Amino acid sequence: MFIDARSLSSDENLEADIAIIGAGAAGITLARALAGTGLKIALLESGGLEWSEEAADLGAGALGEHRYGALEAVRLRYFGGTTGHWGGWCRELDAIDFEARDHIPYSGWPISKADLKDYYPKAQTILQLGPARFDDFAGVAAEAKAAAPIAPGGAMETVLFEFSPPTRMGEVYRAEMEASGVAIYLNASVTDIRLDDALKTATTLTVARDGGAPVRLAARQVVLACGGLSNPQLLLNCDSQMAGGLGNGRDQVGRYFAEHPILDAFASVFALSPATGAPFAWRDTQVGKQRFRPVFQPSDATRRSSSRLSCLATIAEPGPKFDPVKGAFEWWDGRHGPQETATALAVALAAHRPDKTPFHIHAINAGLETRPNPDSRITLIADRDRFGTRRIKLDWRPEVADLEDYLASLEDLSRQLLASGTAVMRIAPDARARFHDETVWGHHHMGTTRMGADPMTSVCDGDGRVHGLSNVWVAGSSLFTTPGAANPTLTIVALALRLADRLKQEMAA
Ligand SMILES: Cc1cc2nc3c(=O)[nH]c(=O)nc-3n(C[C@H](O)[C@H](O)[C@H](O)COP(=O)(O)OP(=O)(O)OC[C@H]3O[C@@H](n4cnc5c(N)ncnc54)[C@H](O)[C@@H]3O)c2cc1C
Repeated sequence: MFIDARSLSSDENLEADIAIIGAGAAGITLARALAGTGLKIALLESGGLEWSEEAADLGAGALGEHRYGALEAVRLRYFGGTTGHWGGWCRELDAIDFEARDHIPYSGWPISKADLKDYYPKAQTILQLGPARFDDFAGVAAEAKAAAPIAPGGAMETVLFEFSPPTRMGEVYRAEMEASGVAIYLNASVTDIRLDDALKTATTLTVARDGGAPVRLAARQVVLACGGLSNPQLLLNCDSQMAGGLGNGRDQVGRYFAEHPILDAFASVFALSPATGAPFAWRDTQVGKQRFRPVFQPSDATRRSSSRLSCLATIAEPGPKFDPVKGAFEWWDGRHGPQETATALAVALAAHRPDKTPFHIHAINAGLETRPNPDSRITLIADRDRFGTRRIKLDWRPEVADLEDYLASLEDLSRQLLASGTAVMRIAPDARARFHDETVWGHHHMGTTRMGADPMTSVCDGDGRVHGLSNVWVAGSSLFTTPGAANPTLTIVALALRLADRLKQEMAA
């Protein structure tokens, strides 16, 4: 049932067993999993059923030194959340991503991948992926494996992305949610979470709306599912009873902000022959209704033996075309480094190609894992939105040291491609100089209320419960202790399903 919060009278006594704040991938998953349990569920969403400027403005904020997108545009604020324009690239985190690794300070989730084993398959269904498991080549797609131009067993290996349609949660699950019995409050922005006198248990939410005074909603359990930028923003703003905000006694809320730096065309490959160049690995492979793309990643053994961070590198669609007869590019897009260097390499390469027809170069694009950094963070600024909530400043700190791990992986990939007779790779000689100006991002907001066993370096425990509070929980990628290299939404959905089971236990106790 949808309820426009603007139509509520301010003396209305709203209540719920479980209040979920935010109706994006995490919030809708949680609400669906809890619907029909007999529990009274309230889902509070800041926006309406469609995008609006007024709701988007609530997400505006300031940036630190590093370039990033406008904060009101890097996520969406309406029913369905940022799945309203996500790309649908899906992949599970690897088992090693959850482990404590000596060479990665602050690594080590309080849960392991095994804790998600029952939830990832269900998350795949929710995101409209096929039933097959990732990297199960035999079961998934012999074609996808064949399109990958390196042999298995090297330092780099071929794994798969699978594409969600992409699932727009607010459209796909709207009718079901409307009929579910969950009270879905739209245009309802939570601005405060009030605690009991002992300051251990949340009792009431303050819900701001346009056109009237805030309303209150009493809840027995409270879940923040506002996304990786707004989860810490809300906790930090809840300082009416606790200085510094909820769960922030040790100044951890908002720290460890992680993104996936996306590096486009920091390396290029030239196919050695039209035969190997034709299918290449940039094409998606359709198997039934499932769509996959091969991607290169440092193998588990490499990540353990060389202390290396992960990356997921794909080969892009055909780029500039080189004519070996003329010894020049037919066109040049400027993204592949200095044209003279590329031309010299292409001339040398062309000498080894029996075929003299023009050939394309392909960019290699990658998303990188980064080391957790407590100084990469979100803080509150003085500026307030129209409901009085202080806006945030995002100070993202991608490090050149993280690029070094990627360059090492590219060196390995280059050797393997050459050894397999598939392609020659050129790593941009100016990669380090280009890093800060040309790095873009995946719109993945992680780590800002990270899970951990130690409250000195984390905000939530392994269930997602805020340390020191009995009934305040977090859902979403702000929980990620380390970001891995895989895009986060599949894991967000899996974690939300796990939290739903945990909340059912809690309510039954
Ligand atoms: C352009 C783009 C492409 C992307 N592509 C991919 C991809 O290919 N693969 C992938 O895995 N991920 C991708 N992502 C990221 C993906 O969209 C997010 O990981 C996912 O949507 C996060 O889910 P969430 O529920 O945590 O947050 P969101 O989906 O952002 O939902 C949070 C909700 O909380 C609401 N809210 C916030 N504050 C409050 C408040 N105080 N009170 C009430 N409601 C509130 C918001 O309005 C919003 O609806 C992409 C993102 C973008 C922007």
